Amino acid sequence: MSESEVQAGAIVIVGGGHSAAALCSGLVAAGRGAQVHLVCEEAELPYQRPPLSKSFLKGPLEALQPLRSEAWYAEAGITLHRADPGVAIDRQRRVLRLRSKRELGYAGLVLATGARARSLPQFAATIAGLSNVAMLRGAADAARLRGQLHAAQHLTVLGGGFIGLEIAATARALGKRVTVLESAPRLLQRSVSGELAMHVLQTHRASGIDLRLGVAAGEFVIEGGRLASLTVEGKGEAVELLVLAIGAAPEQALALAAGLECDNGVIVDACQRSSDPSILAIGDCASFPLHGSGRRTRLESVQNANDQARTALATLLGRDEPYRALPWFWSEQGGMRLQMAGLMPLDGVRHRRAGPSPGSFSILHYVGEQLLCVESVNAPLDHMAARKLLEAAASPAPALACDPAVPLKAHL
Ligand SMILES: Cc1cc2nc3c(=O)[nH]c(=O)nc-3n(C[C@H](O)[C@H](O)[C@H](O)COP(=O)(O)OP(=O)(O)OC[C@H]3O[C@@H](n4cnc5c(N)ncnc54)[C@H](O)[C@@H]3O)c2cc1C
Repeated sequence: MSESEVQAGAIVIVGGGHSAAALCSGLVAAGRGAQVHLVCEEAELPYQRPPLSKSFLKGPLEALQPLRSEAWYAEAGITLHRADPGVAIDRQRRVLRLRSKRELGYAGLVLATGARARSLPQFAATIAGLSNVAMLRGAADAARLRGQLHAAQHLTVLGGGFIGLEIAATARALGKRVTVLESAPRLLQRSVSGELAMHVLQTHRASGIDLRLGVAAGEFVIEGGRLASLTVEGKGEAVELLVLAIGAAPEQALALAAGLECDNGVIVDACQRSSDPSILAIGDCASFPLHGSGRRTRLESVQNANDQARTALATLLGRDEPYRALPWFWSEQGGMRLQMAGLMPLDGVRHRRAGPSPGSFSILHYVGEQLLCVESVNAPLDHMAARKLLEAAASPAPALACDPAVPLKAHL
């Protein structure tokens, strides 16, 4: 380790995504920027990931949107290590080793390594080499997919989750023929109510997307470095371009190799501490205790990345401020802006509130008299009001909350 890299109180953040950038901002505001090393696998400065499946795919004029400029990091005194991932943690010496063999000593280490797009076992070894198969997680994937998409007439998407549906809607808006194959009997099974999933299904079908549910795709025929066809319901279907959008897995390899407890993510307590209290984990890679539920979970959302960065900041500054943020999420699919706030109860009662324009609405989920979750379609003001209501644990009676003549925020 070189002299200059052993700083008193050095904070090393591994991962250059949303949570890492949010933590950098917090540390700078706390006057600790000069002690921070940000270690990035990617060459880019931390950037907005959500546009990658939406506006970024539309054309070469759409640029990456950095979360902070290079000058900002320089001014803040943050040392950036780009395209130089962390490869090993020596917990005894409190040192992170980078691919370049450089070693960074830390007083606090924060794992913000995100998640990786899942592959299929039959593709795991060959995917990078198949010229017409794509997955989407980072900027390089998105740039490759954009080129492939513009050259293709027909896109097949495997997986009817948020990212698959966003890509499908973007491709459709570009005038492509689009097929989506989902093995579950409905869309977005783990994330939204059946009522919202049905609305999403009907809207995509009405836009001309061939969306098939409950279909298993098998037998992938590879010819000349391309995926030539796949079998759907026993019938071979030619493939021009395939996107695998079958979910993401936490990036926990570094933590596992260092002997940290992991189980679908790096296990952390409510203050983001891993099983080694000098190492924290935040964002998509962290499995955390979900406040008030008695279970742990992992969330893949910008909200969770930003809010867990705030919790980690407090922990690094010596204050325990357990993570209790309200979960919320958004997705844009063609003309639909979907926004969810709160956690959907399995046994809730649903009430529908009409939105401000035709086709816009919110679904309010109650258990007993308590409002627990609100899903909105093209009703951003209702979503914002719902977040405030849920944060305040306020519960207007359903008949009042669903009166479209009264703004939802009036019930605060
Ligand atoms: C295409 C797409 C669209 C999305 N759309 C939405 C949306 O509309 N709304 C929403 O709320 N959320 C959306 N998300 C999810 C959201 O982007 C993530 O939840 C968020 O980025 C998580 O932040 P993070 O910091 O945990 O991980 P990431 O932002 O994924 O950053 C992790 C970073 O760590 C790097 N890394 C991994 N291992 C190492 C290592 N060993 N050394 C150094 N660096 C490493 C990775 O390369 C990556 O740059 C989307 C995600 C994707 C991929």
